[in-house]
Amino acid sequence: MAESGSVLSTPVQYLKGVGPRRAEAFASVGIQTVEDLLGYTPRAYIERSAHRSLRGIARRLQMPDIFSSDRESVSVLRQEVSILATVEQIRLRQFRNNRVLLEAIIADADQMKGALLFWNAHQYYTRVLVEGAQYIVTGVPALDRYGRITFTHPQLERIEEEEQAMLEHGILPVYPLTEAMRSRGITAALIRRLVRTALDQVKGNIPDLLPPALLERHRLLSKGDALEHLHFPPDHHAIERALERMKFEEIFLFELLLALQRQDQLRGAAPRLPSPSPRWEQLRQSLPFALTSAQEFVIAEIQQDLARSEPMHRLLQGDVGAGKTLVALAAMLTAVDAGYQALLAAPTEVLAEQHYRTICRLCAPLDVRVAKLVGSQSARQRETMATDIATGHAQIVVGTHALFAESSAHPSHTYHRVGLVVIDEQHRFGVLQRAALRDLAMASHPERLAPHLLVMSATPIPRTLTMTLYGDLDVSLLDQMPPGRQPVTTNVLGTDQLPAAYQVIRSQIRAGHQAFIVYPLVEESESMQLKAATTEFESIANEHFPDVRVGLLHGQMSWSTKEEIMQRFAAGDFDILVATTVIEVGIDVPNATVMLINHAERFGLAQLHQLRGRVGRGTAPATCLLITEPFLAHRARMPAQEDEPPAVTRLRTMAETTDGFLIAEVDMRLRGPGDMLGTRQSGMPDFRYLDLVHDTTTIATARAEAFSLINRDPHLRASEHALLRRYVLDRKDSLTHYAIA
Ligand code: ADP
Ligand code: MG
Repeated sequence: MAESGSVLSTPVQYLKGVGPRRAEAFASVGIQTVEDLLGYTPRAYIERSAHRSLRGIARRLQMPDIFSSDRESVSVLRQEVSILATVEQIRLRQFRNNRVLLEAIIADADQMKGALLFWNAHQYYTRVLVEGAQYIVTGVPALDRYGRITFTHPQLERIEEEEQAMLEHGILPVYPLTEAMRSRGITAALIRRLVRTALDQVKGNIPDLLPPALLERHRLLSKGDALEHLHFPPDHHAIERALERMKFEEIFLFELLLALQRQDQLRGAAPRLPSPSPRWEQLRQSLPFALTSAQEFVIAEIQQDLARSEPMHRLLQGDVGAGKTLVALAAMLTAVDAGYQALLAAPTEVLAEQHYRTICRLCAPLDVRVAKLVGSQSARQRETMATDIATGHAQIVVGTHALFAESSAHPSHTYHRVGLVVIDEQHRFGVLQRAALRDLAMASHPERLAPHLLVMSATPIPRTLTMTLYGDLDVSLLDQMPPGRQPVTTNVLGTDQLPAAYQVIRSQIRAGHQAFIVYPLVEESESMQLKAATTEFESIANEHFPDVRVGLLHGQMSWSTKEEIMQRFAAGDFDILVATTVIEVGIDVPNATVMLINHAERFGLAQLHQLRGRVGRGTAPATCLLITEPFLAHRARMPAQEDEPPAVTRLRTMAETTDGFLIAEVDMRLRGPGDMLGTRQSGMPDFRYLDLVHDTTTIATARAEAFSLINRDPHLRASEHALLRRYVLDRKDSLTHYAIA
């Protein structure tokens, strides 16, 4: 073990054939030690039997792609592929415009022909390419006008003679190589040799974080076997089993940290906030509408948590307009009635302002003192507020990052017995910011009580992901809309249909309603943005709607001007609001019934869904008009096709459903979960092996195992958990990075 350990920690620089220059290139892809090298997973595998590659590619290429911009080719696959081919002939072709093309005719095992095209670096390629030699060709294939499959400037990897033998009865790993690696002579063959040597030296002695009993229970490969099979698989089944093991380890370790986090959060004592809360009961009676049963249920769930002395850690998920604010208010009033302060953090001033106003209005008859803390307040305003807050005079504090921002001008606030912290749109806060708020709340009690925490999110997260990501939180779901809301009808229209779209707006305005017209931000510079906004605004106001009142909202306005414009729109001062900036999350104008979005193809699904959520908040039916290029609109109205541009899928999805969760599922498929959630913000690591969309069974199993292990051995003291303990201790400082709150 000790010996294999020292092999694993050997810097790659000292391996035969590496040296300082190559070590640098290795380091640039995160490979410092032999252990890192063993973790460098093949990008693909090549084998003799995969001989239909060129034919397979040809079939896929036959489907024309409207996005092909390459003038030389009829169509292009946007995906990189690797094939095994023999170079048959090398020749130079001179074109009339004096350009010279180096062309290598290749053939695969089927004798299917193709060509490699090189416009530059002819000298280099004439040296590298040898007639009769075999190569792994990696590149984006295209079909040229003669019907040939071509690769322009592909990556080439010559198969050495010794490897020919390996190929005869096996599978050859292909490693990702960056330009830095290539330029220093690092080839996949070199990596293969280094990996082979390392594996032979440590064989069977690679430390395994996963306890033996766990491996046995789930019939998982040991780490050593998994690495062996990942790099040198005897067959495809071996690759699958190796991957399964690596996936399991990845998610298991992540869930283990979540389980520890959760254990830690439950440790502190929280103030008991009992129900019923007289103020909340009074407010509920006075509402002009009945709560939805989802709201009732979730409020009961939350109040149960609040009444206990373990701190609540709850995520409230609910689509835009589901009525989360009232749920939050129920919780806050419960805290106030128990004699504690409640904090509500919103990601923007506009949103904080809106919450502040809503809460003031609803709480007016209740004798509750509400304070506001935002960045734009003057030092004096802040000072007055600070006193009110520190003495506990203010019972509810609504604010932005100013609630916890520490700066020389504004030292962190002192609170007074904080019982509850609510965070709206939680994904827009950094993990550390949430932790900072929690610390301030704890410091507000002489006995350092932990606050109850409610985080809210209108970003629907696919159900499969919720548990994985928020493993340390309980989840409440507001899965029901207030009654009387008609779903928004969505149409995808080409720019050629704009007159019809404007007609829809006109008839809605005639019926007394209002409309949003949104433009995406496209210009780089601020002055350009402003100019574009103004131009659009003028053409809408003067050419298309000269007889109605049009307002303009754009990103360059101060928040107070934005706020004023929104107020005036809400009050009915404008019939149309032209907005160039994304209209703030949470803006509530029930009388608005049309949302027209220009260049809808440029928006992501989450954004489109948020924007659409601005309408249909009243009781009148609403329409969302997605304007795009005519050919995109046309395709979005046709049935889904494989390999269609993601923009088309997005537009069609919007037209077909208003279900935020369904939309989130599609979004995750199109973009991958990391992108969708913003890896850094969500605290989720970039999983190398795990596919959050498809590996749901693995996730569920690993999660259950991790939580049960922490339950049995909360401090990882058992000898078979020694390596896990070390793993966790090494990450102790970064533990909050994994925390959701
Ligand atoms: P979100 O979940 O997006 O934060 P809000 O809390 O802003 O939603 O609620 C959207 C609108 O719905 C508000 O105008 C709110 O007053 C109203 N609302 C909330 N609950 C109900 C209900 N049970 N019945 C009718 N309207 C409701
Ligand atoms: Mg809201």
